[in-house]
Order: sequence, then C-alpha cells, then structure tokens
Amino acid sequence: MRSSLLLCSLLMILASCGPANDQIGPETDQQSTIDSVTIDRHLTELASDKYGGRLPFSEGEELTLDYLEKELKALGLEPGNGDSYRQEVPMVEITGSPNETMTIQTPSGPLNWTLGEEYMTFSEVAREETLVEDSEVIFAGFGIVAPEYGWNDYEDLDVRGKTVVVMVNDPGYYLEDSTMFKGKTMTYYGRYTYKFEEAARQGAAACFVIHETGAAGYPWFVIQSSWSGTRLMLENEGSPELPVGGWMTLDAARALFTASQAGITGWFERATRADFTAIPLNSKLTTGVRNELRFDQSYNIIARLPGAERPDEHIVYTAHWDHIGVGPAVNGDSIYNGALDNASGTAQLLAIAEAYTEMEEAPARSVVFLFVTAEEQGLFGSAYYVNNPVFPLSDAVANINIDGINPFGKAKDLTITGAGQSDMDQLAKAVAELQGRYVQADPEPEKGYFFRSDHFNFAKAGIPALYAQGGYDHWTEGKEYSAQQMEDFVINRYHQPADEYTAGAWPLGGAVQDGELLFRVGLDLARGESWPQWAEDSEFRVERRR
Ligand SMILES: [Zn+2]
Repeated sequence: MRSSLLLCSLLMILASCGPANDQIGPETDQQSTIDSVTIDRHLTELASDKYGGRLPFSEGEELTLDYLEKELKALGLEPGNGDSYRQEVPMVEITGSPNETMTIQTPSGPLNWTLGEEYMTFSEVAREETLVEDSEVIFAGFGIVAPEYGWNDYEDLDVRGKTVVVMVNDPGYYLEDSTMFKGKTMTYYGRYTYKFEEAARQGAAACFVIHETGAAGYPWFVIQSSWSGTRLMLENEGSPELPVGGWMTLDAARALFTASQAGITGWFERATRADFTAIPLNSKLTTGVRNELRFDQSYNIIARLPGAERPDEHIVYTAHWDHIGVGPAVNGDSIYNGALDNASGTAQLLAIAEAYTEMEEAPARSVVFLFVTAEEQGLFGSAYYVNNPVFPLSDAVANINIDGINPFGKAKDLTITGAGQSDMDQLAKAVAELQGRYVQADPEPEKGYFFRSDHFNFAKAGIPALYAQGGYDHWTEGKEYSAQQMEDFVINRYHQPADEYTAGAWPLGGAVQDGELLFRVGLDLARGESWPQWAEDSEFRVERRR
C-alpha cells in the first residue's frame, strides 16, 4: 500500500491508457508473433482475487511464484539460477515510528515542527532506534556532486554528523537552461534517492529534501502517504547508510532560512550558480525514529533461453510481478489487484518469452526473462539482481523493461521514457517505423519517470535500457481520446482496488503491438553482435564493449 507514484512509473501507466473501445476483448493480429489470447490468459489469472494483489511475503507471492515457474517450465525455458527459477532476495520490513515532532534550535528561537505537517522522516537503517541530536544544519544547495557538469555542492565541506538540507531536482530545471545539466529534463542528480545516496556517501547524519510540487513531480500528500507505515527494504550489503532521511515543505524551509539569520537572500538563485558554496544555517536539529524490524525473503524469478553461439552474452527482459496487496476498502473492495500494474506487463513478458520459444532456432545470444519482486516498494528486486547478478553484468547487452501494457487498443505513437540516453532509441525506432508508428520522447521529462521503474537499476549499473510503449495517440481515435483514457485511469484506478481485469475486458491490440516491438528489439540484439552505447551526455555513460 505504500509507495506508488514515487516508485512506480506513472508515466508508463499513463502511456498505457490509450484508446479505443471499438472492439472489446482481445484484438487479433494475424501477422504477430505475440498472442493476445496468451496475454489475456495470464493477465486474467494473475489479476484475479486469488493472488490477493501479489504483495511480497504474502500468500499471493507464493502463488505468483508457483504460477510463473510452472509457465516458464512449460515453455521449455531453463531455470536461470542454477537448477532453480528462484533468486532469494533478502529483505527487511521496517515499520517506522518517527518522533511526532522535530525541534530545530535557531538564532531566532526553537522551531517546533509536526510530523506530516512540516516534515516527513524515516530511517532506512535496520536498527531499532536512530537518533539525531543537536546536529548542525547546513544548506547544501542541490546536494549534487557531478564532475561531468563541473558541479560539487559538497566541495571543501565536511558534513559528517551534520544535517544537510537540499533542494529537489537539479539546476537545469530552475534555470530552464538547456546548457545546465539537461535543462528541464530531470537528471538522476535531481531525484531524492540520489540526494540521500550522496548525503550518505558524505557521512551526513540526516538529509532533508525541500519539497516543491513542480520540481519534485508530485504533491506533498504523496510524500505523506509514501513515507509512513510499513516499508520493505533490501538488507544492506555494505553501502553507506543515511541514518535519517526526510522531506520538509517549502514553507517550512522558508521559515528555517528566515529563523537562521544566515543572511540568505535569494537562496534558490544562489544554489543554481556553479560557484555556490554551502551555507551553515546556525541551527541545530534533533529528531529520532524508532523502527520495528522483520527480516524475511522474497524472490525474483529468472528463466533463460540459451544462445546458440555466444550464450554468455545476453539480453535481459524485466517485468515486476509484485503489487501492493490488500489495503483500505474502496467501494467494498480491499484487494488491490494491480491488473495493469503489473499483472499486464508480467503477462506480456510471458507472451514474449513464448514467442522466443516458438522460433525454430535460438538466437546467437541468450535471452533472460527476469520477473522481479518489490518494485512497488522501491525497485528492490531489480536492485538486488544488479548487485547480485546471476549472469555477469559485463555480458549483459541491454535491458528491456515492461511496467504496464497499453490496455485500450493500437496506438500511432511509441513513447520512449528516457529518450536520448542510449542507442536503444534507434533500435526501437526502426521497429516502430515498420509498424507504421512514430516515435516521441516522454512529454514530461522533468518528472523523472525514467528513474521510477526497474530498468533504472540496469541503467545505473551501466547497461543501456529501453522503457517504451505506445498510448498517447490512438490508432483511430487520436490524441484527445487517449488523454481522456489516461486521465480516467489515473483518477479512478491507478493503485486502487479498481485496477482489475476479467477475461476479454480490454482490447489488447496495443499490448500485442508493443509486445511485438519489444520482442523484435530484443531479437535483433540477440541475433547480432552489437553493443548498444550510451549517449555522450548521459549520466549513466560508461565505456562499453563495442
Ligand atoms: Zn508498476
């Protein structure tokens, strides 16, 4: 029930909400290697109430894993992890109880803030209690260290044991200057997860991100709901930990800056200059979080089609099998089935896997089908895989990720989230054009959707990734119709019990079309010898094999 907008790509959900109910039930496409009947069958099963919304650690997880194993085995795909299809993902369930108030001693007297009102806080450290006491507060601008942009907000700054306050997004967003970072397009340096990771590397005791709706990409209530209650985390494998992370509202930040009497005028503007230096706020912050911990393991499911010539080299397809389980009832229904998110993507990936197994000859390279856990909780199944890869990442040619299908019928567009990052765009474009589609970039790149689904962990590890689907422009009904469908989905079904499916309920022409495209893109790579490269200005750029 947690997370949601923060963690699961709304865009792809949006993008999936295309078009036309001229035809109810699976559309058929004679030419296609992707079978709509197959998608319909898997989707009907996985979205049914029996699976209880597929929450990790629940009975629904066990049923989902059994189903995937049975289906992959029936397709004749080999187990991906030795003789098992399962990869254990050790996790810890953290139920956090932050202090209800937080005090900041300032030169103008104490500021007493209330949880949920002025701030949200949490501790991802698997410890029963984490305290931050009288910690010096420093405004560190955007909290970014980006050598490729000549940017270092932590230069000559020692924040060990201190609390850093940082702005969300990156300087390019505020300046609307395409020569600064990527202009309006959010770079990874703009994501809150990056801010926390960097603050942890710097040894800070706490890091608070200043919330601003436009720059964050979502309103304050999303932070309130996402950062409260029980959360799942990966068990830490030795990376630096941030004792306390959190957010403060823009109004609270203004009050803090005023009370600090640090002589800060125009701090927003100052932070966007390359010569910005961090500003001590002459204040001390005290807060604490108590955590209840439960250790358990969830599972990724991995299957492989071995390559005929160079089996070590492989393409990795991903789709998250999990959703958010059972929660507060809406109209008497408490099962959050996650039909679109992501029973549909799981079904589509099973159909793609089937298409590969129906080929007479296996391609030169191997193809890996990875169904990951705990995407909704923070992309954890894919993060674990990337940190503990079954097949060496140096042999991974590319990642192709699916998070939601287009459930309204064929589309004229193929919309790429994270367009411009790598050669994957051109590969997708070539196939899209054969389908009579045009390619467009994600129309809201400032929202950072590229960082909100499982492909992102592959990108972070240096593996070019494709995250694309159609749905902004319905084949016969056009853009306005598509926009209406998307809006209706977001308002009435996204992460609600009403994200449901019964056999034949959606026209699956769009899912077939996208499934075909993703199959072809993977197949072209699997048959060839090329290694997709990163764009020159990508923040994920690493030297790769050629
Ligand atoms: Zn999802």
